[in-house]
Amino acid sequence: MEIKITKNTAPKQKPTDQSTLGFGKYYTDHMFIMNYDEGQGWHDARIVPYAPIQLDPAAMCLHYGQEVFEGMKAYKTVDGGIQLFRPEKNMARLNVSNERLCIPLIDEDFCVEAIKKLVEVDQEWIPTQPGTSLYIRPFIFAIDPHVGVHPAKHLMFVVILSPVGNYYPQGLNPVDIYVEQNYVRAVKGGMGFTKTAGNYAASLKAQDEAEKIGYTQVLWLDGVERKYIEEVGTMNVFFIIGDEVITPELSGSILSGITRMSVIELLKSKGYKVSERRLSIQEVYDAHEKGLLKEAFGTGTAAVISPIGTFEWNGKKITVGDGGIGETSQMLYDTITGIQCGRIKDEFNWIQKI
Ligand SMILES: *Cc1c(COP(=O)(O)O)cnc(C)c1O
Repeated sequence: MEIKITKNTAPKQKPTDQSTLGFGKYYTDHMFIMNYDEGQGWHDARIVPYAPIQLDPAAMCLHYGQEVFEGMKAYKTVDGGIQLFRPEKNMARLNVSNERLCIPLIDEDFCVEAIKKLVEVDQEWIPTQPGTSLYIRPFIFAIDPHVGVHPAKHLMFVVILSPVGNYYPQGLNPVDIYVEQNYVRAVKGGMGFTKTAGNYAASLKAQDEAEKIGYTQVLWLDGVERKYIEEVGTMNVFFIIGDEVITPELSGSILSGITRMSVIELLKSKGYKVSERRLSIQEVYDAHEKGLLKEAFGTGTAAVISPIGTFEWNGKKITVGDGGIGETSQMLYDTITGIQCGRIKDEFNWIQKI
């Protein structure tokens, strides 16, 4: 499929201070769009000026949440090159989400090419300071004007770009986590393994309540027994107990993070013992009591590695290690961000250059 490009004739003023970019505040001058219509498939791939989208008020995505998305980044390297981190994994995961939500599959290779083209068109928006990047948000939503519950026959695939700041302007920062007892994020058989809007709507209440009592994020337990650890906020989670690195196995209610996958590969290549298995919050508490809980951290595209300082569980406080930044957490952060921005040689074939 060809991509038709219409250049924006009224480009915006780019943010001048890269230290105040924040996350998701600014959007670039262009976006990618293609449409799906039953009988025709995906068609009309185009890069157009960034602008509001007109929708029928009866558009199905607004009523029944038939929507999926992805989150990835483009980086400017020290030598001025542009690179993406495992974009083929994002497009493969988008199709996993599509399949679960009865959304027609996309051509993964074509979509990686479309994203590269869009990033190239808006390359002057990629910030250059350490830790900054261009966040890429592909998403698909149902547009049939029909108030009735059935899979859509008409959809849109859109990609927008947002220059984002360093998540840790003052360096890695351990966070305090509230172990959620009342709300659950997802259950097996549901949509927890997909990136779909409804999962995040379901998580807002717990996050809001945790923030009000001084925690950064919640630790989600499984929806059935409320015992086993699933994720932390919108990140995957790892624990180091003794000499074992443990992350919950992908059980159907957990999102298969690309950072998670990369952390596992990196640790294994360095000789760490890594287990993907069920892990109860009780086991973490017991390890803490015995002085074996060395590190805990979240993983995700936005923060890459988010060290955890403490957990609050049922009125009990669990301090991880000495509450500071663990050695392994720091090594993972430095190595992965180093590969992403071209400072460290990519021995894993994770990088795609534009
Ligand atoms: C996106 C996401 C992650 C992290 O995935 P990455 O591919 O590493 O960014 C983890 N959990 C949830 C719920 C997510 O939405």
